[in-house]
Amino acid sequence: MISNITSEKIISLTNEFIMPTYLQEITMIKGDGIYLWDIDGKKYIDFTSGIAVTNIGHCHPNVTEAINNQSRNLIHASNLYYNELQPQLAKKLVEYANLPTGKCFFCNSGAEANEGMIKLARLWGSKKNKYEIITMNQSFHGRTLATLTATGQEKVKKGFGPLPKGFVHANYNDIDSVKKLINSNTVGVMVESVQGEGGVIPANFDFLQSLQALCNENQILLLCDEVQAGIGRTGEWFGFQNYNIKPDVISLAKGLGNGFPIGAILAKGELANIFKPGNHATTFGGSPLASAVALSVLNTIDNGLLHHTKSIGKYLKEQLSNIVTENKEWMNEVRGIGLMLGIVLNIPAKTFQNMLLENGLLTIATAGNILRILPPLIVTKQEIDKSIEIIKKVCSEIHPDILKDNK
Ligand code: PLP
Repeated sequence: MISNITSEKIISLTNEFIMPTYLQEITMIKGDGIYLWDIDGKKYIDFTSGIAVTNIGHCHPNVTEAINNQSRNLIHASNLYYNELQPQLAKKLVEYANLPTGKCFFCNSGAEANEGMIKLARLWGSKKNKYEIITMNQSFHGRTLATLTATGQEKVKKGFGPLPKGFVHANYNDIDSVKKLINSNTVGVMVESVQGEGGVIPANFDFLQSLQALCNENQILLLCDEVQAGIGRTGEWFGFQNYNIKPDVISLAKGLGNGFPIGAILAKGELANIFKPGNHATTFGGSPLASAVALSVLNTIDNGLLHHTKSIGKYLKEQLSNIVTENKEWMNEVRGIGLMLGIVLNIPAKTFQNMLLENGLLTIATAGNILRILPPLIVTKQEIDKSIEIIKKVCSEIHPDILKDNK
């Protein structure tokens, strides 16, 4: 026990006072680098990174220092006033995204960034009466009404109708299915460079190239949801940079604050000046504290972590591919880019995830049979080797009955 409140008490308080939206099992009380500790003192390797958030590891000293220093100076004064750090953060993001004349709007979460990206696209299209956005099947864009409608998964929509109009879904990696949906009302196409919640499915190179060309030809917007794949996760600042494309608008959140809530929309060219005073706002967006944290995150990643993510990601993928080859009976393939990886299984990923957790390795089951592996970008080769040992041990313990039951 390293806490003075018991696990049972926390669970009973949670059940009494917290809306039951999550299925939780353990209580985490401490984090450091790639590690988390639960309330009973058990140590875990965190290969979830808080769902692609703590990209530079838990409680990174640069983030802690930024919070300490900035919180002594100014935490929040509102967007009624200029903010010394916000434009510095925006400048960096625009440079990293290679969007000359680009500008940012800051908000607080991925859904809010996407909501803003949708509003920006609609405002741009409003003069020509264009409003419809094509999104992809299996995509995930958030839980607000507009973003869950944009999401290409029926399960997130059930019971929340009537849903906003103006969203249609094409098949990911199928350019013809996008072409078929373009009409005079289409304002843009919204896409993840690597679908995260949908099952760690990277876009095909040709698909995103053709999508860019299709958007240009039809004078519609290419909107990239980089909430999960952005901020170094794939070994580039943004996932789309693996595809040599230039989106018109980009949404960000998750890794930008390494756990401190901050999201952003980046827009290029004329789109950077579409929102005027009164069109869009949010009280907390890009506060001095949030901006200080995000700046410290970007500076930390800029210190060689992109290159590291590429090489260590390649190493991890090779190790996982070897495991897949040794367990062909119930494992299909490893896919993903950088440190955004998924193992495609023939059994429910939750079963495997639970066994790994028992052995001290945290991963995330998604889309039924995909085990998502999202290590912090700071992970070392030794730490990867340790986690590979755990995965191998668990593989050797997979009972034939589990395989039989799922045949
Ligand atoms: N977009 C993508 C690609 C995501 O993966 C997520 C969350 O998983 C979101 C948007 C929503 O972000 P948030 O949960 O911060 O609202």
